[in-house]
Order: sequence, then C-alpha cells, then structure tokens
Amino acid sequence: MARKKLMAANWKMYKTPQQAQEFLRAFLPLVEGHSRDEIAICPPFVCLPAVVEALAGQSIGVGAQNLHWEKEGAYTGEVSAGMLVAVGCTHVIIGHSERRQYFGETDETVNRKLQAALAAGLTPIVCVGEVLQERESGLTEDVLRRQCQRGLRGISGDQARTLVIAYEPVWAIGTGKTATPQIAAEAHVVIRAEAAKALSKAVAEDMRILYGGSVKPDNAKALMSEREIDGALVGGASLDPKSFAAIVKW
Ligand code: PEP
Repeated sequence: MARKKLMAANWKMYKTPQQAQEFLRAFLPLVEGHSRDEIAICPPFVCLPAVVEALAGQSIGVGAQNLHWEKEGAYTGEVSAGMLVAVGCTHVIIGHSERRQYFGETDETVNRKLQAALAAGLTPIVCVGEVLQERESGLTEDVLRRQCQRGLRGISGDQARTLVIAYEPVWAIGTGKTATPQIAAEAHVVIRAEAAKALSKAVAEDMRILYGGSVKPDNAKALMSEREIDGALVGGASLDPKSFAAIVKW
C-alpha cells in the first residue's frame, strides 16, 4: 500500500502566538479540502496552544520541536512528552541537526526522547543526516546507519508503528542547496534497510521517510514524485503561508 506523505513545517525559533494565528488564517483556506497528504505544523513551544486552538476541527497535526525523556523533574527549561500531549500535540521532532549541533544532542539522547515520545502516543519525526565533510569523505551511509542503529536501539516494531524518520542532509539545511531526488532516495534506502533490521521488514516498509533540506515550492514536485520520499520537513519555506501551501500541494 502506498504510504501517505507527511508535509511538516518546522518553524524553528520563529513566530509569536499571534503571528502563528495570522499564518493559519492565511494558510487554512489555501489547503482546504487537501486530503492527499498529511500536514503538521511544528511551532515553538509557546505557540502550541494557539496553534492547537486555531486548528480545532481540522485534520492537521501539531508538533513540538523537542521534548525531554523524563516525565517530570528538576530539569529547568525542559518539557515532557506528557506535557505536549496535554496541550494537544500530536507530533514531535527529535534530534534535529540544529539540536545536535548547538545543544549537544546525541544518538543516545535521541533514543531516550524517542522512547518517551512513543510511550506518550506522539508521532515522532526523528532527524538523521550527514554533514558536508562526511558526504565528501564517502561516509554518508556509515553515518546514517549509525544514527539509525543507535537512535532505534531497544525499540520494538510494535512500538514504532507511528515512527517517521526525516533524512536531512545537514549541508542542505537552510543553505539553498537541495539534495537531488536520487541522492535523497539512495539515503532513504539505507535508512529503510536499517529500520528493517531494528524494527521489522513490515514496519520499515510502512514507515514514512521524509526529506528535509531547502525544500521550496519550485523543487517540491521533483522531490515528492520520487517513490522513496514520503513527505517533507520544511524549515524556511514553511514560514510563509503561500509558500508552504504551494509545497503541500506540490
Ligand atoms: C529544517 O529545519 O528541518 C529544514 C529542512 O530547514 P530548511 O527547509 O530551511 O532547509
């Protein structure tokens, strides 16, 4: 069965609650009746309640950009999976390269966060991808295998039925350089093979693997037409309602 694509917006540290509502007022009419793909909006934490409220009655997911693996505790500045569910979140991004690069996230913390997200019933979007130097040294496959093996350690196929992985080559994020559909497809095949080993062949076959890295309205069609690409994680181009709607409707 064909996998339904997921088109997810990662707003990073952009937009206040009011700006988020303004975005949705413009965006919703542009995607009205669009049921071919799933859509999710991942705003900053403080915007989550406003986005949940603005999306009431719509079949559009709301995702956080991070979570902590503990249920609660003395972890200043952190937010748990249960807290995200309590405000109406459905999705959560885990292990984005910016969090790995600037906030010390490792494959081990990704694994703990993934376990917490799955236990809480959230749909995790786990990000993996190589940096430019790794690609140029021919290490892309090794990096993807390692990130998948460690990130998925101890997780069963049954637990992982909602798992989404986003292949985000770091050299393509926010740079305007996009992986070709072929480059992305090759990486997705590696990721799916690792998921099959860690979870099961059947779960890996159903699992969606998104592409992320400078997806724009003018390259979305070529990328999304590739059979191995099951959707997009969109940063910069998701901040404008017209541009994200054009990507969703590729
Ligand atoms: C991202 O932040 O996940 C991303 C893919 O960013 P951009 O689309 O801006 O490259």
